[in-house]
Amino acid sequence: MSEPIAQQVLAGWGNHPRVACQVVRPETQRALRRSVAQASGAEPVIARGLGRSYGDPAVSDQGRVVDCTRLDRYVDFDPRTGLLTCDAGVSLEQILRDFVPRGFLPMISPGTKFVTVGGCIANDVHGKAHHADGCFSRCVHSMQVLLASGEVVTASPTEHADLFWASFGGMGLLGIITQATIQLRKVETTYFRQQAVVVENLDEMMDALDAHNHEPYLVAWVDSLATGDRLGRGVITLGDHATRAELPEKLASNPLAVSPPSPLAVPFEMPSGLLNTATIRALNVVLDQVQRRAAPIAHYEKFFYPLDFVGEWNRGYGGKGFTQYQFVIPLADGRAHIRELLEIIATSGQAPFLNVLKRMGPERPETMLSFPFEGYTFAIDFPIRDGLSDLLARLDERVLAMGGRIYLGKDAFVAPETLAKMYPKLQAWKAVKARYDPDNHFSSSLGRRVGLS
Ligand SMILES: Cc1cc2nc3c(=O)[nH]c(=O)nc-3n(C[C@H](O)[C@H](O)[C@H](O)COP(=O)(O)OP(=O)(O)OC[C@H]3O[C@@H](n4cnc5c(N)ncnc54)[C@H](O)[C@@H]3O)c2cc1C
Repeated sequence: MSEPIAQQVLAGWGNHPRVACQVVRPETQRALRRSVAQASGAEPVIARGLGRSYGDPAVSDQGRVVDCTRLDRYVDFDPRTGLLTCDAGVSLEQILRDFVPRGFLPMISPGTKFVTVGGCIANDVHGKAHHADGCFSRCVHSMQVLLASGEVVTASPTEHADLFWASFGGMGLLGIITQATIQLRKVETTYFRQQAVVVENLDEMMDALDAHNHEPYLVAWVDSLATGDRLGRGVITLGDHATRAELPEKLASNPLAVSPPSPLAVPFEMPSGLLNTATIRALNVVLDQVQRRAAPIAHYEKFFYPLDFVGEWNRGYGGKGFTQYQFVIPLADGRAHIRELLEIIATSGQAPFLNVLKRMGPERPETMLSFPFEGYTFAIDFPIRDGLSDLLARLDERVLAMGGRIYLGKDAFVAPETLAKMYPKLQAWKAVKARYDPDNHFSSSLGRRVGLS
Protein backbone atom coordinates (compact mmCIF):
# COMPACT_ATOMS: atom_id res chain seq x y z
CA MET A 1 0.00 0.00 0.00
CA SER A 2 1.43 3.41 -0.91
CA GLU A 3 1.02 6.47 1.31
CA PRO A 4 -1.12 9.34 -0.06
CA ILE A 5 0.88 12.36 -1.19
CA ALA A 6 -0.51 15.91 -1.06
CA GLN A 7 0.85 18.87 -3.03
CA GLN A 8 1.19 21.77 -0.62
CA VAL A 9 2.97 25.10 -0.54
CA LEU A 10 4.90 25.11 2.74
CA ALA A 11 7.11 27.61 4.52
CA GLY A 12 8.72 28.05 7.90
CA TRP A 13 7.39 30.50 10.50
CA GLY A 14 8.91 33.43 8.59
CA ASN A 15 6.80 32.60 5.49
CA HIS A 16 9.97 32.94 3.43
CA PRO A 17 10.73 31.07 1.25
CA ARG A 18 7.44 29.43 0.22
CA VAL A 19 8.06 26.14 -1.48
CA ALA A 20 5.80 23.74 -3.44
CA CYS A 21 6.24 20.40 -1.64
CA GLN A 22 5.03 16.81 -1.88
CA VAL A 23 3.82 16.01 1.60
CA VAL A 24 3.10 12.68 3.26
CA ARG A 25 1.52 12.55 6.68
CA PRO A 26 1.92 9.06 8.14
CA GLU A 27 -0.31 8.12 11.07
CA THR A 28 1.64 5.10 12.28
CA GLN A 29 5.29 4.16 12.63
CA ARG A 30 4.75 1.48 10.02
CA ALA A 31 3.33 4.02 7.56
CA LEU A 32 6.30 6.28 8.28
CA ARG A 33 8.74 3.49 7.40
CA ARG A 34 6.76 2.81 4.22
CA SER A 35 6.85 6.50 3.21
CA VAL A 36 10.61 6.65 3.60
CA ALA A 37 11.18 3.33 1.81
CA GLN A 38 8.93 4.41 -1.11
CA ALA A 39 10.94 7.55 -1.63
CA SER A 40 14.17 5.57 -2.06
CA GLY A 41 16.56 6.29 -4.90
CA ALA A 42 16.66 9.78 -6.32
CA GLU A 43 13.89 11.19 -4.13
CA PRO A 44 15.16 12.95 -1.02
CA VAL A 45 13.10 13.02 2.18
CA ILE A 46 12.92 15.51 5.05
CA ALA A 47 10.96 15.40 8.31
CA ARG A 48 8.74 18.30 9.34
CA GLY A 49 7.36 19.02 12.79
CA LEU A 50 5.15 22.04 13.48
CA GLY A 51 7.02 24.28 11.00
CA ARG A 52 8.19 26.76 13.68
CA SER A 53 11.71 27.05 12.31
CA TYR A 54 11.80 30.35 10.50
CA GLY A 55 13.46 29.55 7.17
CA ASP A 56 13.75 26.48 4.95
CA PRO A 57 14.88 23.46 7.04
CA ALA A 58 11.48 21.71 6.97
CA VAL A 59 10.59 22.35 3.32
CA SER A 60 11.90 20.76 0.15
CA ASP A 61 11.41 21.54 -3.52
CA GLN A 62 12.61 18.01 -4.28
CA GLY A 63 11.33 14.65 -3.07
CA ARG A 64 9.09 14.45 -0.02
CA VAL A 65 8.36 16.24 3.18
CA VAL A 66 7.25 13.85 5.93
CA ASP A 67 4.90 15.63 8.28
CA CYS A 68 5.47 13.90 11.64
CA THR A 69 2.74 15.61 13.66
CA ARG A 70 0.37 12.64 13.60
CA LEU A 71 3.04 10.49 15.23
CA ASP A 72 2.15 11.80 18.65
CA ARG A 73 1.75 8.87 21.03
CA TYR A 74 3.15 8.53 24.53
CA VAL A 75 4.99 5.27 25.00
CA ASP A 76 6.00 5.34 28.68
CA PHE A 77 6.15 7.71 31.65
CA ASP A 78 7.72 7.17 35.05
CA PRO A 79 6.28 9.69 37.56
CA ARG A 80 9.10 8.93 40.04
CA THR A 81 11.86 9.99 37.67
CA GLY A 82 9.96 12.24 35.23
CA LEU A 83 11.29 10.25 32.25
CA LEU A 84 8.91 10.36 29.28
CA THR A 85 9.22 8.20 26.16
CA CYS A 86 7.13 9.51 23.28
CA ASP A 87 6.85 9.74 19.51
CA ALA A 88 8.92 12.60 18.09
CA GLY A 89 5.77 14.28 16.73
CA VAL A 90 4.53 14.99 20.27
CA SER A 91 4.50 18.75 20.85
CA LEU A 92 5.54 20.66 23.96
CA GLU A 93 2.00 22.05 24.02
CA GLN A 94 0.68 18.48 24.31
CA ILE A 95 3.21 17.64 27.04
CA LEU A 96 2.19 20.75 28.99
CA ARG A 97 -1.50 19.90 28.68
CA ASP A 98 -1.01 16.32 29.86
CA PHE A 99 1.83 16.59 32.38
CA VAL A 100 1.37 20.00 34.06
CA PRO A 101 -1.53 18.63 36.15
CA ARG A 102 0.90 15.94 37.40
CA GLY A 103 3.49 18.57 38.34
CA PHE A 104 5.87 18.40 35.36
CA LEU A 105 7.10 20.96 32.83
CA PRO A 106 9.40 20.38 29.86
CA MET A 107 12.99 20.68 31.08
CA ILE A 108 14.02 23.03 28.25
CA SER A 109 11.59 25.16 26.30
CA PRO A 110 12.02 27.64 23.43
CA GLY A 111 9.85 30.79 23.13
CA THR A 112 6.89 28.85 21.71
CA LYS A 113 5.22 25.65 22.88
CA PHE A 114 4.06 24.78 19.34
CA VAL A 115 7.15 22.71 18.57
CA THR A 116 7.63 18.96 18.37
CA VAL A 117 10.16 16.88 20.29
CA GLY A 118 11.76 15.95 16.92
CA GLY A 119 12.05 19.63 15.96
CA CYS A 120 13.55 20.48 19.37
CA ILE A 121 16.23 17.81 18.90
CA ALA A 122 17.00 18.71 15.27
CA ASN A 123 17.64 22.36 16.24
CA ASP A 124 18.92 21.58 19.76
CA VAL A 125 16.68 24.42 20.92
CA HIS A 126 17.50 26.66 23.86
CA GLY A 127 15.40 28.79 26.17
CA LYS A 128 15.73 31.73 28.55
CA ALA A 129 17.68 29.54 30.97
CA HIS A 130 20.38 28.36 28.58
CA HIS A 131 23.14 29.81 30.77
CA ALA A 132 21.86 27.66 33.66
CA ASP A 133 20.33 24.60 31.96
CA GLY A 134 21.85 24.23 28.49
CA CYS A 135 20.07 23.14 25.31
CA PHE A 136 17.43 20.49 24.62
CA SER A 137 20.25 17.89 24.31
CA ARG A 138 20.55 18.23 28.09
CA CYS A 139 17.16 16.50 28.60
CA VAL A 140 17.35 13.77 25.94
CA HIS A 141 18.38 10.34 27.21
CA SER A 142 18.01 8.45 23.95
CA MET A 143 16.20 8.46 20.64
CA GLN A 144 15.10 6.05 17.91
CA VAL A 145 16.18 7.07 14.43
CA LEU A 146 14.82 5.74 11.12
CA LEU A 147 17.82 5.61 8.80
CA ALA A 148 18.05 5.70 5.01
CA SER A 149 18.63 1.91 5.08
CA GLY A 150 15.14 1.46 6.55
CA GLU A 151 16.63 0.31 9.86
CA VAL A 152 15.50 1.95 13.11
CA VAL A 153 18.39 2.31 15.56
CA THR A 154 18.68 3.51 19.14
CA ALA A 155 20.99 6.50 19.54
CA SER A 156 22.19 7.51 23.00
CA PRO A 157 25.48 8.54 24.62
CA THR A 158 26.40 4.83 24.68
CA GLU A 159 24.76 3.44 21.49
CA HIS A 160 25.46 5.00 18.08
CA ALA A 161 26.83 7.92 20.08
CA ASP A 162 28.06 9.66 16.91
CA LEU A 163 24.52 9.69 15.50
CA PHE A 164 23.10 10.80 18.86
CA TRP A 165 25.33 13.87 19.18
CA ALA A 166 25.21 14.78 15.48
CA SER A 167 21.38 14.80 15.61
CA PHE A 168 21.39 17.88 17.89
CA GLY A 169 21.49 20.70 15.38
CA GLY A 170 21.50 18.09 12.60
CA MET A 171 18.43 19.69 10.97
CA GLY A 172 16.76 16.34 10.28
CA LEU A 173 19.44 15.47 7.74
CA LEU A 174 20.61 12.20 9.31
CA GLY A 175 17.29 10.35 9.49
CA ILE A 176 13.82 10.63 10.97
CA ILE A 177 13.67 10.61 14.75
CA THR A 178 10.73 8.37 15.56
CA GLN A 179 10.81 8.38 19.37
CA ALA A 180 12.75 9.98 22.19
CA THR A 181 13.12 9.53 25.93
CA ILE A 182 13.28 12.92 27.59
CA GLN A 183 13.55 14.18 31.15
CA LEU A 184 10.68 16.37 32.39
CA ARG A 185 11.14 18.86 35.25
CA LYS A 186 9.26 18.27 38.51
CA VAL A 187 7.74 21.54 39.73
CA GLU A 188 5.75 22.61 42.78
CA THR A 189 3.80 25.24 40.83
CA THR A 190 3.39 26.36 37.23
CA TYR A 191 4.15 29.97 38.18
CA PHE A 192 7.31 32.06 38.07
CA ARG A 193 8.65 34.86 40.22
CA GLN A 194 9.72 37.61 37.86
CA GLN A 195 11.24 41.06 37.93
CA ALA A 196 11.84 43.73 35.30
CA VAL A 197 15.08 45.74 35.19
CA VAL A 198 14.86 48.88 33.05
CA VAL A 199 18.12 50.02 31.40
CA GLU A 200 18.71 53.25 29.51
CA ASN A 201 21.71 52.39 27.32
CA LEU A 202 23.98 49.56 26.20
CA ASP A 203 26.51 49.86 29.04
CA GLU A 204 23.72 49.55 31.58
CA MET A 205 22.26 46.66 29.60
CA MET A 206 25.51 44.67 29.49
CA ASP A 207 26.29 45.44 33.16
CA ALA A 208 22.85 44.21 34.18
CA LEU A 209 23.05 41.06 32.02
CA ASP A 210 26.43 40.17 33.56
CA ALA A 211 25.37 41.08 37.10
CA HIS A 212 22.20 38.95 36.95
CA ASN A 213 23.77 35.99 35.17
CA HIS A 214 23.24 33.81 38.27
CA GLU A 215 19.44 34.14 37.83
CA PRO A 216 18.05 30.94 36.26
CA TYR A 217 15.84 32.69 33.68
CA LEU A 218 17.14 35.87 32.11
CA VAL A 219 16.36 37.63 28.86
CA ALA A 220 16.35 41.21 27.56
CA TRP A 221 14.32 43.15 25.06
CA VAL A 222 16.17 45.98 23.29
CA ASP A 223 14.54 48.99 21.63
CA SER A 224 15.64 48.19 18.07
CA LEU A 225 15.20 51.78 16.85
CA ALA A 226 17.16 53.54 19.62
CA THR A 227 20.44 55.07 18.43
CA GLY A 228 23.23 57.30 19.81
CA ASP A 229 23.27 57.63 23.61
CA ARG A 230 20.12 55.54 23.88
CA LEU A 231 21.43 52.61 21.81
CA GLY A 232 20.82 49.40 23.76
CA ARG A 233 18.07 50.76 26.00
CA GLY A 234 15.51 48.15 26.98
CA VAL A 235 14.10 45.92 29.69
CA ILE A 236 15.58 42.78 31.23
CA THR A 237 13.20 40.19 32.61
CA LEU A 238 14.53 37.72 35.14
CA GLY A 239 12.94 35.08 37.29
CA ASP A 240 12.73 31.58 38.68
CA HIS A 241 10.13 28.92 39.48
CA ALA A 242 7.80 30.06 42.25
CA THR A 243 7.18 27.80 45.23
CA ARG A 244 3.66 27.25 46.51
CA ALA A 245 4.41 29.42 49.56
CA GLU A 246 5.30 32.32 47.24
CA LEU A 247 1.95 32.30 45.43
CA PRO A 248 -0.76 34.79 46.40
CA GLU A 249 -3.76 33.14 48.03
CA LYS A 250 -5.97 33.18 44.94
CA LEU A 251 -3.37 31.21 42.93
CA ALA A 252 -2.20 28.91 45.72
CA SER A 253 -5.45 26.89 45.58
CA ASN A 254 -4.55 25.70 42.05
CA PRO A 255 -0.74 25.80 41.87
CA LEU A 256 -0.55 23.54 38.80
CA ALA A 257 -2.92 25.53 36.59
CA VAL A 258 -2.92 24.95 32.82
CA SER A 259 -3.93 27.92 30.66
CA PRO A 260 -6.80 27.64 28.17
CA PRO A 261 -5.81 28.20 24.51
CA SER A 262 -5.66 31.85 23.45
CA PRO A 263 -8.64 33.00 21.34
CA LEU A 264 -6.58 35.74 19.62
CA ALA A 265 -5.15 35.36 16.12
CA VAL A 266 -4.02 37.63 13.31
CA PRO A 267 -6.96 37.04 10.92
CA PHE A 268 -5.16 37.66 7.61
CA GLU A 269 -1.80 38.70 6.22
CA MET A 270 -1.16 42.38 6.83
CA PRO A 271 0.00 44.48 3.85
CA SER A 272 3.81 44.26 3.65
CA GLY A 273 4.28 48.01 4.00
CA LEU A 274 2.42 48.23 7.32
CA LEU A 275 5.54 47.60 9.39
CA ASN A 276 7.41 50.85 8.84
CA THR A 277 9.52 52.94 11.18
CA ALA A 278 6.47 54.80 12.55
CA THR A 279 4.42 51.67 13.37
CA ILE A 280 7.47 49.92 14.82
CA ARG A 281 8.21 52.94 17.00
CA ALA A 282 4.63 52.82 18.30
CA LEU A 283 4.78 49.05 18.91
CA ASN A 284 8.13 49.45 20.70
CA VAL A 285 6.51 51.91 23.12
CA VAL A 286 3.78 49.36 23.87
CA LEU A 287 6.31 46.53 24.34
CA ASP A 288 8.41 48.75 26.59
CA GLN A 289 5.44 49.50 28.83
CA VAL A 290 4.21 45.89 28.95
CA GLN A 291 7.63 44.64 30.05
CA ARG A 292 8.30 47.38 32.61
CA ARG A 293 5.04 46.49 34.31
CA ALA A 294 5.67 42.75 34.55
CA ALA A 295 3.62 41.25 37.41
CA PRO A 296 5.73 39.74 40.23
CA ILE A 297 4.16 36.31 39.69
CA ALA A 298 3.50 35.03 36.17
CA HIS A 299 1.99 31.83 34.83
CA TYR A 300 4.32 29.78 32.60
CA GLU A 301 2.24 30.76 29.55
CA LYS A 302 3.10 34.43 30.03
CA PHE A 303 6.61 33.79 31.30
CA PHE A 304 7.73 31.33 28.61
CA TYR A 305 5.37 31.94 25.70
CA PRO A 306 4.17 35.56 25.52
CA LEU A 307 4.20 35.35 21.72
CA ASP A 308 1.82 32.37 21.69
CA PHE A 309 -0.99 34.62 22.96
CA VAL A 310 -1.62 35.85 19.42
CA GLY A 311 -2.01 32.91 17.03
CA GLU A 312 -0.33 33.23 13.61
CA TRP A 313 1.26 36.57 14.52
CA ASN A 314 3.76 35.87 11.75
CA ARG A 315 1.08 37.06 9.28
CA GLY A 316 1.56 40.55 10.71
CA TYR A 317 4.74 40.83 8.63
CA GLY A 318 2.76 40.70 5.39
CA GLY A 319 2.82 38.50 2.31
CA LYS A 320 6.57 38.69 1.68
CA GLY A 321 7.26 37.25 5.11
CA PHE A 322 10.20 37.90 7.39
CA THR A 323 13.37 36.37 8.72
CA GLN A 324 14.87 36.23 12.16
CA TYR A 325 18.58 36.87 12.36
CA GLN A 326 20.12 35.26 15.45
CA PHE A 327 23.82 35.21 16.21
CA VAL A 328 26.02 34.35 19.17
CA ILE A 329 29.43 35.97 19.74
CA PRO A 330 32.07 35.24 22.40
CA LEU A 331 32.06 37.06 25.76
CA ALA A 332 35.52 38.56 25.05
CA ASP A 333 35.03 42.07 23.61
CA GLY A 334 31.31 41.22 23.62
CA ARG A 335 30.25 44.67 24.71
CA ALA A 336 32.06 46.49 21.89
CA HIS A 337 30.97 43.88 19.38
CA ILE A 338 27.29 44.02 20.38
CA ARG A 339 27.50 47.81 20.10
CA GLU A 340 28.90 47.56 16.58
CA LEU A 341 26.27 45.05 15.44
CA LEU A 342 23.38 46.98 17.03
CA GLU A 343 24.60 50.15 15.34
CA ILE A 344 24.69 48.42 11.94
CA ILE A 345 21.13 47.15 12.54
CA ALA A 346 19.70 50.38 13.99
CA THR A 347 21.00 52.48 11.11
CA SER A 348 20.24 49.95 8.34
CA GLY A 349 16.80 51.33 7.47
CA GLN A 350 15.53 47.72 7.43
CA ALA A 351 12.68 48.11 9.99
CA PRO A 352 14.04 45.67 12.59
CA PHE A 353 11.40 44.59 15.08
CA LEU A 354 10.96 42.04 17.89
CA ASN A 355 14.27 41.14 19.43
CA VAL A 356 15.93 39.30 22.28
CA LEU A 357 19.38 39.69 23.86
CA LYS A 358 20.79 37.24 26.36
CA ARG A 359 23.93 35.62 27.70
CA MET A 360 24.41 31.99 26.82
CA GLY A 361 26.13 29.28 28.82
CA PRO A 362 28.83 26.88 27.65
CA GLU A 363 28.53 24.71 24.57
CA ARG A 364 27.95 20.99 25.04
CA PRO A 365 31.31 19.70 23.77
CA GLU A 366 30.01 16.47 22.19
CA THR A 367 27.59 18.27 19.85
CA MET A 368 28.71 19.36 16.37
CA LEU A 369 26.14 21.70 14.87
CA SER A 370 24.38 22.87 18.01
CA PHE A 371 24.18 26.67 17.87
CA PRO A 372 24.84 28.06 21.38
CA PHE A 373 28.21 28.65 22.99
CA GLU A 374 29.20 30.85 25.92
CA GLY A 375 28.67 34.43 24.84
CA TYR A 376 26.01 36.95 23.93
CA THR A 377 23.17 36.05 21.61
CA PHE A 378 20.90 38.49 19.86
CA ALA A 379 17.84 37.62 17.73
CA ILE A 380 15.98 40.17 15.65
CA ASP A 381 13.17 40.04 13.08
CA PHE A 382 13.41 41.75 9.69
CA PRO A 383 10.54 41.91 7.19
CA ILE A 384 11.70 40.71 3.75
CA ARG A 385 12.58 43.81 1.72
CA ASP A 386 14.98 44.91 -0.98
CA GLY A 387 18.49 45.25 0.41
CA LEU A 388 17.93 42.86 3.34
CA SER A 389 20.18 40.11 1.97
CA ASP A 390 23.05 42.64 1.65
CA LEU A 391 22.57 43.70 5.27
CA LEU A 392 22.52 40.08 6.47
CA ALA A 393 25.66 39.24 4.46
CA ARG A 394 27.39 42.22 6.09
CA LEU A 395 26.26 41.09 9.53
CA ASP A 396 27.41 37.51 8.78
CA GLU A 397 30.84 38.81 7.82
CA ARG A 398 31.17 40.84 11.04
CA VAL A 399 29.77 38.02 13.25
CA LEU A 400 32.26 35.58 11.68
CA ALA A 401 35.15 38.01 12.21
CA MET A 402 34.12 38.28 15.89
CA GLY A 403 34.33 34.48 16.27
CA GLY A 404 30.55 34.06 16.25
CA ARG A 405 27.93 32.13 14.33
CA ILE A 406 24.31 32.24 13.27
CA TYR A 407 21.43 29.91 14.19
CA LEU A 408 20.31 27.66 11.32
CA GLY A 409 16.88 27.22 12.93
CA LYS A 410 16.12 30.86 12.10
CA ASP A 411 18.16 31.31 8.93
CA ALA A 412 17.08 31.64 5.29
CA PHE A 413 20.09 33.47 3.83
CA VAL A 414 23.54 32.32 4.99
CA ALA A 415 26.10 31.31 2.33
CA PRO A 416 27.62 27.79 2.59
CA GLU A 417 31.23 29.04 2.80
CA THR A 418 30.29 31.39 5.66
CA LEU A 419 28.49 28.64 7.55
CA ALA A 420 31.46 26.28 7.16
CA LYS A 421 33.74 28.86 8.80
CA MET A 422 31.25 29.51 11.60
CA TYR A 423 30.92 25.84 12.63
CA PRO A 424 34.40 24.37 13.18
CA LYS A 425 33.00 20.84 13.74
CA LEU A 426 31.15 20.81 10.41
CA GLN A 427 33.57 18.26 8.89
CA ALA A 428 33.05 15.92 11.85
CA TRP A 429 29.28 16.24 11.34
CA LYS A 430 29.67 15.54 7.61
CA ALA A 431 31.61 12.37 8.43
CA VAL A 432 28.64 11.15 10.52
CA LYS A 433 26.29 12.09 7.66
CA ALA A 434 28.44 10.07 5.22
CA ARG A 435 28.36 7.08 7.61
CA TYR A 436 24.59 6.97 8.14
CA ASP A 437 23.27 8.55 4.94
CA PRO A 438 25.93 8.06 2.22
CA ASP A 439 23.45 8.68 -0.62
CA ASN A 440 21.95 11.88 0.81
CA HIS A 441 18.53 10.33 1.18
CA PHE A 442 17.69 12.97 3.79
CA SER A 443 17.81 16.45 2.31
CA SER A 444 15.88 19.72 2.56
CA SER A 445 15.92 23.10 0.84
CA LEU A 446 18.15 24.35 3.67
CA GLY A 447 20.43 21.31 3.44
CA ARG A 448 21.10 21.91 -0.26
CA ARG A 449 21.35 25.71 0.14
CA VAL A 450 24.04 25.56 2.84
CA GLY A 451 25.85 22.44 1.61
CA LEU A 452 24.83 20.03 4.38
CA SER A 453 23.10 17.54 2.05
C1 LIG B 1 7.66 32.29 18.37
C2 LIG B 1 8.88 31.42 18.27
C3 LIG B 1 9.81 31.46 19.29
C4 LIG B 1 10.94 30.65 19.22
N1 LIG B 1 11.85 30.70 20.24
C5 LIG B 1 12.95 29.93 20.19
C6 LIG B 1 13.89 29.93 21.26
O1 LIG B 1 13.73 30.64 22.26
N2 LIG B 1 14.97 29.11 21.17
C7 LIG B 1 15.17 28.28 20.11
O2 LIG B 1 16.15 27.53 20.10
N3 LIG B 1 14.29 28.25 19.07
C8 LIG B 1 13.20 29.05 19.10
N4 LIG B 1 12.30 29.00 18.06
C9 LIG B 1 12.55 28.08 16.96
C10 LIG B 1 11.91 26.70 17.20
O3 LIG B 1 11.98 26.35 18.55
C11 LIG B 1 12.69 25.64 16.43
O4 LIG B 1 12.82 26.01 15.09
C12 LIG B 1 12.08 24.25 16.51
O5 LIG B 1 12.99 23.35 15.94
C13 LIG B 1 10.77 24.13 15.75
O6 LIG B 1 10.20 22.83 15.97
P1 LIG B 1 9.16 22.23 14.93
O7 LIG B 1 8.54 21.03 15.51
O8 LIG B 1 8.24 23.31 14.49
O9 LIG B 1 10.14 21.82 13.76
P2 LIG B 1 10.14 22.23 12.20
O10 LIG B 1 10.32 23.69 12.11
O11 LIG B 1 8.99 21.62 11.50
O12 LIG B 1 11.49 21.52 11.74
C14 LIG B 1 12.72 21.98 12.24
C15 LIG B 1 13.84 20.99 11.92
O13 LIG B 1 13.56 19.79 12.63
C16 LIG B 1 13.60 18.68 11.76
N5 LIG B 1 12.67 17.70 12.30
C17 LIG B 1 11.39 17.88 12.70
N6 LIG B 1 10.88 16.72 13.14
C18 LIG B 1 11.85 15.79 13.01
C19 LIG B 1 11.93 14.40 13.25
N7 LIG B 1 10.91 13.69 13.73
N8 LIG B 1 13.09 13.76 12.98
C20 LIG B 1 14.16 14.44 12.47
N9 LIG B 1 14.14 15.76 12.22
C21 LIG B 1 13.00 16.42 12.49
C22 LIG B 1 13.17 19.24 10.41
O14 LIG B 1 13.66 18.44 9.36
C23 LIG B 1 13.86 20.61 10.44
O15 LIG B 1 15.20 20.49 10.04
C24 LIG B 1 11.15 29.79 18.09
C25 LIG B 1 10.20 29.76 17.07
C26 LIG B 1 9.08 30.57 17.15
C27 LIG B 1 8.08 30.53 16.03
